[in-house]
Formats: sequence, C-alpha cells, structure tokens
Amino acid sequence: MNQQAKILKNSSCKDVPILKERGQREVFCGLTGIIWMHRKIQDAFFLVVGSRTCAHLLQSAAGVMIFAEPRFGTAILEEKDLAGMADAHDELDREVETLLSRRPDIKQLFLVGSCPSEVIKLDLSKAAERLSKVYFPKVRVFNFSGSGIETTFTQGEDACLASLVPSLEETDKENLMIVGSLPDIVEDQLLELIEDLGIKNVSVLPGRTASKMPMIGEKSSFILVQPFLTDTTEALEKRGATMINAPFPFGEEGTTLWLKSLKDAFSVSEETFEKVTEAPRKRAAAALAGLRSRLEKRKIFFFPDSQLEIPLARFLSRECGMELIEVGSPYINRKIIESDLQLINQEPVFSEGQDVDLQLDRCRNSKPDITVCGLGLANPLEAEGLTTKWAIELVFTPIHGYEQAGDLAELFARPLKRREALKI
Ligand code: SF4
Repeated sequence: MNQQAKILKNSSCKDVPILKERGQREVFCGLTGIIWMHRKIQDAFFLVVGSRTCAHLLQSAAGVMIFAEPRFGTAILEEKDLAGMADAHDELDREVETLLSRRPDIKQLFLVGSCPSEVIKLDLSKAAERLSKVYFPKVRVFNFSGSGIETTFTQGEDACLASLVPSLEETDKENLMIVGSLPDIVEDQLLELIEDLGIKNVSVLPGRTASKMPMIGEKSSFILVQPFLTDTTEALEKRGATMINAPFPFGEEGTTLWLKSLKDAFSVSEETFEKVTEAPRKRAAAALAGLRSRLEKRKIFFFPDSQLEIPLARFLSRECGMELIEVGSPYINRKIIESDLQLINQEPVFSEGQDVDLQLDRCRNSKPDITVCGLGLANPLEAEGLTTKWAIELVFTPIHGYEQAGDLAELFARPLKRREALKI
C-alpha cells in the first residue's frame, strides 16, 4: 500500500482526501454515449465529425442498428481535410443538406466533435449556429464534443445534455426536472412513483422528442439520476434551476433516499411516502436478500470508467455487504456524489483519474474477488486469474430503481458464480 493510501485509511469517509492520478488512462471516449443517447432521443440524429476510427467504434459498439434506419452517422474527415486543403465547413454543410433532405423525421441534429475535428480545430459551435439559422424551425442543430482527448465515455452524455440546456424554453412556473437518460421503462417506473407522491409538473431531460423537452426558470428544481452530469448541472444552475441533492437511486436504500429527497423538497407527507414506497421497497429488499449471501464479504476493486463507481460502491457495501478496496473514478465531483460518499462506512482508497500501471499493481496486490474495469483491462486480468466485470455493462443495463435492485446485484454475483463454476 502506498503512502497516500495509508493516509486514507486513517480518515472517515466523508473527509478522505482523494488519491489523484494523472497518468496513462484506459477508457472509451465520449462518442460511446451516442449508443444509448440515440435510442433515448427519438427524433435526433448524431452526426460525428470524425475519422474512420470513430465510425468503426460506433458501428461495432452499436452493430444492431444496421437493421434499422440509423440515428447516427459519421462525416468522415479525409486526409485533405486534415491537411487543411479543403474547407471542412463547406463539406459539412453539404453532408447535412443531404442528410436532412433524405430524413425529414430528424428534428434535432447533434454535430459531435471527435479527436480529429479537435486537432484541426474545426469549430462545430459555429457550424451549429450557422446550420440552425438555415434549418430553423424544422430542425434544431446542437454541438458537443465526444473527443477522447476531452472526455471519457459517460461524459458524452453530459456534453450532449449540457448542449441542450440553453435551448430550453423559459418558464416562471414551479417545475421538477429528472435529469439523465434512463431506459424508457425505468424512467416510467420512477415517474409513476413521483406522480404517486403527488408532485406535479415533472419532466425529463432529455425529453424523448424535441417537443417533450422540459421548460426552465428560477422556480425550477432538478434531481440527477446519473452521477456523471457535471456540465449539465452547471448549465441548469446557470439558467436559475436548483439542484436537489440525493444519493443515486441504486438499490432499495438508494432509491428510497432519492425519493425521500423529493419528498422533503416538495413537502410530501410521511404517510403518503410510506404508502407509495412500501410495496416496491419490500420487493427490492426481497430480491436483494436472495443475492446478499453470494456477495457478502467479497472484495471489490473499481477501476475508473463511468463515474458511477462511488454510488455503486455505496450500494454494494451497504446493501450487499461487499468489502471495498479501491473505488476509482475518472472524475469526482463532490457536490454531486457527496450524499453517496457520506453513506459509505468503510475506508477504501478513493482515487480520481488514472495511472494505469500503478493502479494495476494496487489491484494485483489486493487480490480482489471482483474487479470492475474497462474491456481493455478485463481480458488480461481474467488471464491472470482475477474475476472481472465490464464497467460498460453497467451503463447499458437497466440498473436504477426498486425493480432493478436485484438485477444490479446479480450483475456482480454472476461473474463470481462463473469463476466458481470454472474452478470445479
Ligand atoms: Fe478514437 Fe477519438 Fe474517434 Fe473516440 S473520438 S473513436 S478516441 S479518434
């Protein structure tokens, strides 16, 4: 154990310093977010301005879309663009014109920056402004960066949602926004619970279509469902909205505390709260009880990937009895994850950023029962005899809310079971 890790062991969780590392990192870029965002926003198209590598990443990660009319594509920057011999803006305008004339169903177009577009300093905000004027009001054009130079894989969603905030219509009425993209079925479950609590004027960012985007003003409040939304939070606060702090809705306890923060903010009675949450709480607790024995006292090590690590560590330690060794996150925004951090009553190493070789050494030395990491690290670690869980699965699988509490625990129990089966 290194010196910094020793210091952490002597502190209470709330006050621990974070071990900050700024070395080589092994994470996907923000383009990955398009894979779930294009399913969520049904009248949007994501046009990546990038290279063949970017196109390959998207196509292999979202291969199923070959069978449907896709809602994302890549405008490939060729060598002459990269060498500055062609006007990339003219070419982009032509691509957009072809796309929009062929696809009248597109109401929102996201121009997505990549490493190559960053390198040649192609100003996509100017392009979005110009194209917005051309296609307004039929199509709204936004831009954000998914470049691996600037973002890790969940930050693509953050950048996308933050780009939407300035376009939200102004309101002087009280309203609540649920912020972060969830599978529709999970979103509907949470919205139903909120409605049953009697909270009115609730909308979701991102809305499923352009006409369903929330309105915003000084009397708006919002609650996050994803912990990686730092830029979106700042953009919403800049427009006057107030954040409701809460632990993230993972597991029975997490979901109850998340709803309780809404109950307190909207003065819902204790009686109503109990009535609304009692049955789903019981279902979630029963689902978790069956899995706890498989996870209890098992040691877990998180490499930094999705920024979901701290809320998940809270869930796995408190609700499943797991022992936390290291909880790594690419970026830690204490304001957003403070409520989860405060609840962790173990003393793991919390690390931010990555120096992958040092972290691999810490991982091997601590011999965890399960290691949560990216695809690139999983295979070599499995070959060394460690049991791994792909971090990206946690983003693609429905894991929020009461009804998914058992599935979430199962995601960690399954690799342990598989490893035990292989040993027999
Ligand atoms: Fe690779 Fe950068 Fe394209 Fe991502 S944006 S696929 S890191 S070149």
